[in-house]
Amino acid sequence: MRVLITGGAGFIGSHLCDYFIEKGHEVICMDNLLTGRIENIAHLMGNRNFEFVNYDVTNYIFVDGPLDWILHFASPASPNDYLEYPIQTLKVGALGTHKALGLAKAKNSHFLIASTSEIYGNPLIHPQSEEYWGNVNPIGPRGVYDEAKRFAEAITYAYHRYHKIDIRIARIFNTFGPRMKADDGRVVPTFINQALKREPITVYGDGSQTRSFCYISDLLEGIYKLINTNEVTVVNLGSQNEMTVIDFAKLLMRLMNVDCEIVYKELPVDDPHIRQPDISLAKKTLGWEPKVSLEDGLKKTIEYFRNQIK
Ligand code: UDP
Repeated sequence: MRVLITGGAGFIGSHLCDYFIEKGHEVICMDNLLTGRIENIAHLMGNRNFEFVNYDVTNYIFVDGPLDWILHFASPASPNDYLEYPIQTLKVGALGTHKALGLAKAKNSHFLIASTSEIYGNPLIHPQSEEYWGNVNPIGPRGVYDEAKRFAEAITYAYHRYHKIDIRIARIFNTFGPRMKADDGRVVPTFINQALKREPITVYGDGSQTRSFCYISDLLEGIYKLINTNEVTVVNLGSQNEMTVIDFAKLLMRLMNVDCEIVYKELPVDDPHIRQPDISLAKKTLGWEPKVSLEDGLKKTIEYFRNQIK
C-alpha cells in the first residue's frame, strides 16, 4: 500500500510511519513541524519506502501518484499545545481535514481520521460509548480542539455520504509512550520528567479526576485493524484501566522508586472529571483490546525520557 500520514512527525504519527514501513508499505509523511519533531522520524530518512514532506495541510495538498490510504493525524493534541496554537488547531481540524478529504476524493483513497475522546467533552455518561454525543463547551479554552475534531468527524462523514469516500473514525483516548514531548504538558510526560528530576509532582485540582492510559503499541494495532475492516466504522480506541490522577502519581513514584512532594495546582478550565472508553465495539468489530499493562508501558516510557535527559 502507498499511504499518506499527515502529522507523521508527531508522537502517534511517527509511530504509525514506523509501523507501516515495518509492514512493507510505502509512507509519505507530511508535517509542518508546528508540534511534530523531525527527530521522531530522523531514523526513517533515507529509507526508500519513506518520504518526508514539510507542509501545512490546511493548504491545498498535492501528492504525486496513487494513494491507497490517507491517515489524517495532523493536529496539535496536548492541552498545552492547543492552548498555545488555538487558531492553527481549529484550522487543521477544519481546513486540514477538508483538504485531506479532497485529496482522498481525487485519489480515490480510503480515509482514516484521528478523532479523540475530547469530542465527548466533560462526559455525563460513563464509560463513554460511541453512541454518546458529548458535553462540550464550544467557547471554553479546550473548545478549539474539541470542536475542530467534532467538525472533522462531521465533514468526514459528509464526504462518506455525499462522495462515497470509504472512511474510518478512530476516537483515540489518552495514549502514551516514547516520543511524547517532555514539555507538552500532558500528565504522563510531565509526571515522569518531574520524578526523574526529583521535582514536585504537579497535580491539578484535587487529583480525583480520572483517565485511562493506553500504550502506543496497542493503539497502533487498533488502527491497523481498523483499516483492515471492510466497513465504515467510528470506534473508540483506548484502555479501560481507569484511575485517578493522584493514584497515577503514586503508581509512577512507586515504579520509579522516588518519593517526590505532591503540589496541588488549579484545575484547568473544563478539564473532564472522568474518562473511560467503552470499547465493546472495538472488541466486537475489530477483535481488539489493549494488551500492554500500564506498568510495562510506563517502564518503556520512563526509559525513553531517562535517555532523553542524559
Ligand atoms: N494533569 C495534572 N498535572 C499535570 C498535567 C495534567 O494533574 O501536570 C491532569 C489534567 O488536569 C487532567 C489529567 O491530568 O485531568 C490528564 O491530562 P492530560 O493533559 O494528560 O490530558 P487530557 O486527558 O486532559 O487531555
